[in-house]
Amino acid sequence: MRQPLVAGNWKMNGSRDSATGLLKGVAAGIGGLATEVVVCPPFVYLEQVGRLIDGTAIQLGAQNMAREEAGAFTGEVAGSMLQDMGCSYVILGHSERRSLYGEDDAVVAAKTVRALADGLLPIVCVGELLEERQAGKTEEVVGRQLNAVLDAVGAAGIARGVIAYEPVWAIGTGMTATPEQAQEVHAFIRAGVAKYDGAVAEGLRILYGGSVKGDNAEGLFGQPDIDGGLIGGASLKVDDFVAICRAAG
Ligand code: PEP
Repeated sequence: MRQPLVAGNWKMNGSRDSATGLLKGVAAGIGGLATEVVVCPPFVYLEQVGRLIDGTAIQLGAQNMAREEAGAFTGEVAGSMLQDMGCSYVILGHSERRSLYGEDDAVVAAKTVRALADGLLPIVCVGELLEERQAGKTEEVVGRQLNAVLDAVGAAGIARGVIAYEPVWAIGTGMTATPEQAQEVHAFIRAGVAKYDGAVAEGLRILYGGSVKGDNAEGLFGQPDIDGGLIGGASLKVDDFVAICRAAG
């Protein structure tokens, strides 16, 4: 039985004030749920958010990290620093990192290796562009992104992390994949991991991300291979985020 997981990706949003209100509401709303809940604020708020969630069921994650261990990399943040700040999780290979900051499969794989070495649980994002879906290339693209990471860390490595299927055309657009469309790709991902290790595939949590809201979460999370969600916009609204966490539980 895979424990459902919902992770909120705040992206480059929020302030000290908004974080306080948001986390109070979320902590109160998710009490007693079986869902594992993670929030991923911008780096500068990690310490404050860590304090605010202390003693709650919410866990801390980051949105990105450097592929290097430490040293002369101005502006970068090391995985060991995230660990030091109390992060359990780190999102890697988000489509915004891939498209806006040039992170290719090799970079995402290298960061996944580093995250595991630094004791973090990676949430590795994969997903196709709209034109790739329309050209019938969804499996080719998702398979390539997945295998780059699997080849780098092996089944034992991926077993310590989470995969998030995020069709790029659904992120921040309001265009959610249907539960059937998402399930099809989730099953494909699980089968891909099973080629490396069947038991790992069975236990691996695969999240869906892309315009998940309080009113569409239940249909998505009801699918057999969807184990929760990676939530962007709706993770900034208490009612929506709590409803999504409840739908996963
Ligand atoms: C995301 O940023 O990972 C995401 C899924 O965003 P949204 O929920 O806003 O589509």
